[in-house]
Amino acid sequence: MTDVQTAGRPATVISTDATVPEARFDAVVVGAGFAGMYMLHRLRQQGLSVLVLDGATDVGGTWYWNRYPGARCDVPSMEYSYSWSEELQQEWQWSEVMSPQPEILAYAQHVADRFDLRRDIRFATTVRAAHFDESTDTWVIATDAGDRLRATYCIMATGALSASNTPDLPGLDRFGGELLHTGRWPKAPVALDRRVGVIGTGSSGVQAIPVIAEQAEHLFVLQRTPVFTFPANNKPLRPDVQSAYKDHYDEVRRRQRHSPNGFSGWSPVKVAPKQSTAGPRPARPELRTLSPEQRHQAWEQYGFRVFDRFRDVYKDMEANELACELYRDHVRSVVRDPDVAERLLPKDYPLGCKRQVLDSGYYETFNRPNVTLVDLRDEALVEITETGVRTTKRHIELDVLVLATGFDAMTGALDRIDIRGRGGVTLKEHWAAGPRTYLGLQVAGFPNLFTVTGPGSPSVLSNVIVAIEQHVEWIDDCIGELRRDGLRTIETTPDAEEAWGRHVTEVAQDTMYVAPGCSSWYLGANIPGKPRVFMPYVGGLGRYRARCDEIVANGYEGFVLR
Ligand code: FAD
Ligand code: NAP
Repeated sequence: MTDVQTAGRPATVISTDATVPEARFDAVVVGAGFAGMYMLHRLRQQGLSVLVLDGATDVGGTWYWNRYPGARCDVPSMEYSYSWSEELQQEWQWSEVMSPQPEILAYAQHVADRFDLRRDIRFATTVRAAHFDESTDTWVIATDAGDRLRATYCIMATGALSASNTPDLPGLDRFGGELLHTGRWPKAPVALDRRVGVIGTGSSGVQAIPVIAEQAEHLFVLQRTPVFTFPANNKPLRPDVQSAYKDHYDEVRRRQRHSPNGFSGWSPVKVAPKQSTAGPRPARPELRTLSPEQRHQAWEQYGFRVFDRFRDVYKDMEANELACELYRDHVRSVVRDPDVAERLLPKDYPLGCKRQVLDSGYYETFNRPNVTLVDLRDEALVEITETGVRTTKRHIELDVLVLATGFDAMTGALDRIDIRGRGGVTLKEHWAAGPRTYLGLQVAGFPNLFTVTGPGSPSVLSNVIVAIEQHVEWIDDCIGELRRDGLRTIETTPDAEEAWGRHVTEVAQDTMYVAPGCSSWYLGANIPGKPRVFMPYVGGLGRYRARCDEIVANGYEGFVLR
């Protein structure tokens, strides 16, 4: 298994050997996904010398690494795409409503070519360390290729979901078959027409399982926690719909930018202005007030949309449980074997506490004769052997073992770099009790270091590309102002950082994200030993953008500019 970001790697100390040649840039950007690519484009436009580094051999980030069967976006591509070039958004053609990974990767590659980005990107180069040099107010950056770079600004576009999580399963290194991680899927085709095991039933597992099942001689799904998954209802993108979007992109993008979650809510069928009906919109009813029969009628009428039609589903645990029961009845109606169906039912955490998973035929997959559900809560995984997996009840022979076990989210990619700020303090030390940032953009004690979609930002709770654009534009504007005013550094204050952290925690209170029984990667709960802190900002992207703009208008409130 290839993994450029091996967890637990010892920290690199930057060479102080003056004979190591040093290359000088205005800005070094780590990561060539959608964030790093746009950052490069923007900074270049204001005349900075920029170098982007990525451990991958091409652009695309998430869409470069996650090549597993079934990988695709679950946000409509007309909205999961860059908005900053009118020519680009007009010329690119999407084939499906929610694009498959190869198409999104091809899009990223097209952007790199069209805007000539590759000449400033160094691929197959992993950043090991970034230290702030207080004597010169610059960052010194070391890579696994032995580079020593110096830059005024260091921008971490390392991705919130890029550090793959390989759990510490006993015997994993003994496995003699093919071992794969969904987040590090090889470029070469993988023969899946064998006995395949998949560990993990989050978004990645749920996308991969139905597709692998179609190819495998036999597929064993090793499930620890059952998932709530809604049908993706993906389909080919109609040319007239694509054209309508393109004709209305001004409005679509404006709505996206100011929405809570990066979705415009725009639809081609609403193009004609509606007659406004007088009076306020009636409040949505409460699920709790319905009789069992009425609840089932509501499900019959609305299906999965029922959860949004009632205002208490995501606010009240009792209503949430009623919604969960409707969901479970649906699963029972799809999965033919009642014992398998029962094991697939999520029962011990509320709907809406984790990122919503979307699927294409997930439950139907368990009706196939070549698919076996292995319930790890009933038969715990004991060890990985040379030839398969041993549970407390049996040994399962496998040729291929797929880890769909997710990511050390939001902090993992940063933790894997030896980042040191003022006084040699490491970011890891600063974040020992959980990540602390101001706006998810900066960390106190780390001047001129910026994080794109960092913890404390709305990023992963939204259509991420919209969040990326907002961060990149904010950072670019900020650097522009520093340069215009002849200032050397920008640095957030500990007070601003603390106040923002408190705000991030406060707005998450009373949401399903932190409800009893909820353990998610948003909380760091998927990584043993990781502090449990709700990391993203739940207050909404539009509101967050307004706050960021206000902070600038107030003379970079909460930052010290020197
Ligand atoms: P990434 O795309 O993760 O890029 C970060 C890059 O930094 C990587 O290429 C990595 O190699 C590089 N890097 C990290 N550390 C180092 C280092 N030390 N040295 C050198 N390089 C380094 N979001 C949505 O909004 N909608 C979706 O439908 C959606 N689907 C997703 C599906 C999957 C399978 C995954 C994993 C994520 C998905 N996301 C989705 C989130 C997705 O990560 C973002 O939408 C977006 O692609 C992130 O872009 P980025 O540039 O911030 O980070
Ligand atoms: P994930 O949601 O964290 O799911 C990981 C799965 O692996 C869980 O089922 C988890 O079980 C299981 N697992 C982890 N360690 C295990 C162990 N030691 N033993 C047994 N099972 C173990 O990760 P993901 O599926 O990769 O998704 C992460 C995020 O990436 C998503 O939430 C989403 O933001 C993004 N993503 C999006 C899409 C999309 O549809 N566009 C697709 C893929 C990913 P437990 O729950 O019991 O820990």
